[in-house]
Order: sequence, then structure tokens, then C-alpha cells
Amino acid sequence: MNERKLGTQAWQVLDRAHYMHPFTDHAALRQTGARVATKGEGVYVWDTDGNRIIDGLSGLGCVNIGYGRRDLVEAAMAQMAELSFCQSFFKTTHRPAVLLAEKLASMLPEGLNHVFFQSSGSEANETAMRAIRRYWDLSGKPEKRIVIAREAAYHGSTHMAASLSGIPPMYTAGGDVPLPGIVHIDTAYQYRHGPDMNEEEFGLLAASWLEEKILDLGPENVAAFFAEPAQSAGGAICPPMSYWPEVQRICRKYDVLLAADEVVCGFGRTGQWFGADYYGIAPDLLQLGKGITSGYLPLSACVLSDRVADVLIEKGGEWAHGFTYSGHPACCAVALENIRLLEEEGIVERAGRDLVPYFRKKIETFADHPLVGNVRSVGLMGGMEIVKDKKTREPYVPDVHIGEVCSAEALKRGLAFRANGDTMSLMPPLIITTEQLDTVFDIAREALDATARRFGVA
Ligand code: PMP
Repeated sequence: MNERKLGTQAWQVLDRAHYMHPFTDHAALRQTGARVATKGEGVYVWDTDGNRIIDGLSGLGCVNIGYGRRDLVEAAMAQMAELSFCQSFFKTTHRPAVLLAEKLASMLPEGLNHVFFQSSGSEANETAMRAIRRYWDLSGKPEKRIVIAREAAYHGSTHMAASLSGIPPMYTAGGDVPLPGIVHIDTAYQYRHGPDMNEEEFGLLAASWLEEKILDLGPENVAAFFAEPAQSAGGAICPPMSYWPEVQRICRKYDVLLAADEVVCGFGRTGQWFGADYYGIAPDLLQLGKGITSGYLPLSACVLSDRVADVLIEKGGEWAHGFTYSGHPACCAVALENIRLLEEEGIVERAGRDLVPYFRKKIETFADHPLVGNVRSVGLMGGMEIVKDKKTREPYVPDVHIGEVCSAEALKRGLAFRANGDTMSLMPPLIITTEQLDTVFDIAREALDATARRFGVA
């Protein structure tokens, strides 16, 4: 079979027959067929019908450096040619993993010095959970077991990561999810929980929900608070600046570890290197993924602070935890090259300095759109929340998936624009130009207008 000659429909038939897609309603997919992507370059992706799509989502919030960078391809090739695989289980190490661990420690907030590698964000969060529970066991406080996570959180799709997640279909899906020992609190979602409040006061109020829950459970039973600096899949939920310092203070007060899931925020999404830099967080554990390789190869990291690592190392003996692909040489080599380019070409700095203010100004113009109840953004991550009634903030979900309609309208016009519930999300690659951002927002507006017409909204 000469695969290159197959047309879209033939691909769709094969796809339908054998390929199970993540997070997909396959019965619905059968009605429409999948778009068949073929090539990516810069901020664009092409498909078998010859359409050029501007990727407003950086893939899944991972292709920070853009598609098609030869340097990354060559870094992978060179490493695969030299040492294609190397385990780190049996007193063996290799240069790319050592160099990357050292590099990450040098970039992250002080004290985060010990790096455990895996392949996905979900696994990084698994590692964090195992480290947290082991830390308290080894510290002689095994009763400190409960982990507090939040509404609208997304931490991944394994049993543990899905249990930590707070998006309803994840943790109500059955199948032993959520696992025991995980509780959720409301998040700093001002539009839903305090729309008429002063932003700073709302941030303090939202942080106080953590303190209430800790006191309710008993601080002696609480192991950790687990949260994304800003929530991406939950619908671009960006906390007020007063939230994190107060959360940090509460965690310290009750000796509760803080685990920051930076799988999306890490590597420039907030306009700074890490969400911890942006919000001034000093976590005990910090999880990275996605942007670490700009999505060129799968890699994630769970970074432990000295406090946590010292106990694991000095009191624990062997930690029976790890993956065949922990510290895969090619993935680490690509991550090193990706970080080198992001640094040397000033990509994160330029995004923070020039693109973020532009992005914010543009997205805020959507507040007047008849479908949009709330606009929010941090760095190059933004959301426009669609509501049925702007006054009462009544949503369309769960009855009507209007966001899916808007997403489809955008795709028809050449933009990948995702619906997280009713929130239309954007997280473009950090290398996007202001002209390309203009196109993104022009198409986003056309898609919203078309959706409004379909729903009879003036
Ligand atoms: N944490 C966050 C904040 C995420 O957004 C995601 C993925 N969207 C994950 C964890 C899970 O990462 P992965 O899909 O690589 O397992």
C-alpha cells in the first residue's frame, strides 16, 4: 500500500477501524470522520485536504517553540545514533539525563534540585503523589495521607491523576475513580464564585477555602495541596495575584506540602519561564511536561525540593518506583536543545515582553461579544467563557455543547480553537507573530459570530 497516495476518506476509514483516540466520542467521530493532519511548520498545521490551520492551541499546550524545528530533529537523531536507549535503574546514568536534571535545577526556584523523569504529565503527577505519601511515611507521620486538589483541575488520565482532577467527567467516571484520600475544594474561579468582589479580596477568600478544608480534615491528616498555578483544561482559570502567596502561607502554617503541576504553565506559557516565577510560588514538588520538549518527544519531570528528596534519600533505601523510559536519552537531548533555543533566541522573554500585552489587549475586546460572559488570560493562555445569559451567567453546558459548535466553526475557517466546557481557549505557540495573532483573533470572532447566529443570539 502506498500510504502517501491515500485520500482523506480512505484514511478516515482506516482510522475508524483501528485507532482509538484519546478523549473522543467514537460514535460521534464516525459521523464526521477525523481531520487527517500531515505536516507542521511554525504555527501552522496542514491536513490531507490541503487546509492550512493556524494552531491556536500549540497542539495541546505543548508546541511552545512551534513545529518543524530542524535543530530538535537533529538533536534526537544525533542522540539516537550515539546511544538510543539507556536505563537508569541499575547504577547506570547517561549524559543527557544528567545535564537536563542539572539544567532544570538551575532554572527552577531555589531548593528544587532533584529531578525524576517519566514520559507524560500524568506520570509526573503519579510520581509526585508517591513521593508525597512516602515522604510522610518516612517522616514518621503516616497519618498525613489526604491530598487536597481543586475543582476544574486537570492532572492527567491515569487512575491517580484522574482522581486528582476536578473536571466532572474525570472524577465521576466510575471505575474506582476517585481513589481514596483525595478531596476537592473550590478553585479561584472569580467569575463563578465572586464576580462582584474586588479581585485581591477574592484571591484571599479562595485561599481561605484551603485553610477551612485543612482544619476540617485536621492538619495532622493532610499531606499536600496539589494544584496548577493557572488552570488550563479547566477553562483558563487564572487566580488573582493575592491567591498563591496566601496559599503558600497556609501550607507552611499547617505543614502541608505544596505540589505545583506546571505541565502546562512550565516553559513560558505565563510569559515567564514557570508559573512559580509568575505567581511567586515556592513549591515542595513541581511537575513539568509538554513544553519541556515542545512536544517533539514525550518527556516529563517531577522535581523534588531538598526537603522532600533528603528524606527519601536518607531514610528510604530503594524507592520502588520508575519507568523503562525514565530519562530516555533522546527525549532528554531534545529537551536540552529545546531549552537552549528558547533561551538563546529569547523566545520566552519576547513572549512575556511583547506578545503577552498584545494577546491580553486583543482577547479583552471579546468581553462585549453577545455570547461571551467572561474573558480571562494569563500570559499566552486565555479563555472566553460562553454563557446563555450574560446577566445571570447561566451556562449552556451540560445540556448544549455550544463550545463544540464554535470550535468547529473556527476549524472551518482555519483556526484550532478549543472548547473546554463552554470556555473557548487559546494558547498559541510562543513564536507566534503579532500579525498571526491578529488572524487568530479575527477567526475567533468570526467563529463566535457564526455560533451566535446558529443559536439565534443577536
Ligand atoms: N497536568 C496538566 C496541568 C495538564 O494540562 C495535563 C495534560 N493536558 C496533564 C497534567 C497530563 O499530561 P499528559 O497528558 O502528558 O499525561
